[in-house]
Amino acid sequence: MVFPADTLLERNESTMKQYIKTRHENFLSDFKTIVNIDSSSDNKSGIEKVARFFEKRFARIGLDTEILFLGDKKVPCLYAEHRPSKKSFDIMFLGHMDTVFPTGEVEKRPFSITGNRAFGPGVCDMKGGLLVVLHVLETLKHEGILDSLSVCVAFNGDEETGSHASRDWIMSTAKKSLQTFVFEPCRPGYRFVLQRKGGGWFQIIVKGQEAHAGADPEKGINAVVELAHQIVKINQLNQNEMQTSVHVTVISGGDKVNIIPNMAKASVDVRILKLEEKERIETYFKNLPEHTYLKGAQIKVQGHIDRPPMEPGDGTRKLWELIRSTGEQMGLQMESISTGGCSDGNYTSAAGAPTIDGMGIVGANSHRADEYAELDSIDNMVGLVAQVCKAIAEKNKLI
Ligand SMILES: [Zn+2]
Repeated sequence: MVFPADTLLERNESTMKQYIKTRHENFLSDFKTIVNIDSSSDNKSGIEKVARFFEKRFARIGLDTEILFLGDKKVPCLYAEHRPSKKSFDIMFLGHMDTVFPTGEVEKRPFSITGNRAFGPGVCDMKGGLLVVLHVLETLKHEGILDSLSVCVAFNGDEETGSHASRDWIMSTAKKSLQTFVFEPCRPGYRFVLQRKGGGWFQIIVKGQEAHAGADPEKGINAVVELAHQIVKINQLNQNEMQTSVHVTVISGGDKVNIIPNMAKASVDVRILKLEEKERIETYFKNLPEHTYLKGAQIKVQGHIDRPPMEPGDGTRKLWELIRSTGEQMGLQMESISTGGCSDGNYTSAAGAPTIDGMGIVGANSHRADEYAELDSIDNMVGLVAQVCKAIAEKNKLI
């Protein structure tokens, strides 16, 4: 029997909750399938396999779906959309299919369950989150809500290496969307991410002059000494009040103990919470080669701040209020947090779309072998996101 969408929108919350409960075993079986596909950022065929899994399922519920191969490296990315009207997308669902784990990791530690926890490579970062998107959209289809929404899905394959090939695509998709949900893991205790620091890397390369350290040291220019002075000054760029952190994290230089070194290098990690700090930091590094300490030393600087900070504006705060109150009605105590780590949410936020991150499965220990996902968060997260989508669909009906 076909119900008109209007009637179905009126179905109460518990009907949807019941339905999601009946799908729990399907979620677990999908979970096993996609966690057990190795898909490190350099494993293009693995990423494509994950994309094909979702392509089939999104197509089945009527989404226009395609797999894109972006950039010189032909990174597989999945795009799907459902656009009953020509207006902007109500929601962009954003996730990444790549993991940090090398090919062969699945064989060593395939998907497994112990108590309330699922384990396996990328289980919370973020295969679980990708499945939340799929199961939400399948639920919305079943409940007759999907046709009241314009949605798009963007799953990239290079997030863990900086989204170099997919960044522009993500930003242009976000510009066509009224809001973005990012499916990085939700922190234990249902803590969502509204704010992320931006950041980037710099490399300092010092060229000096080598000389015999005993016979004629005066002929040398010590690149390590020059770098040491620069490091002390770079450290002064830290600014606690603005929460800007600038840290020299890797250094190298010199060759043999009796030779004045002619080369030294340092890598610098930069994190900023406020966009205006980007200029201060970038200007400092741009001008750094003009301020050498040793006469004759030469300095080259590479790098820039490539991820803008994700700063919550009014739109994000309003959206969070909708999500938080929806969760509360479901009995979930939720919190919002700020973090130093970057995600693709930094790009969607910079593109102007109100962005909430941490909409994926609840879990922790990302990028480690003891990474886990909490199984009892599956129905809660699918239910929460579906209810939020339903609320947005109902608002559409009133417009
Ligand atoms: Zn991630």
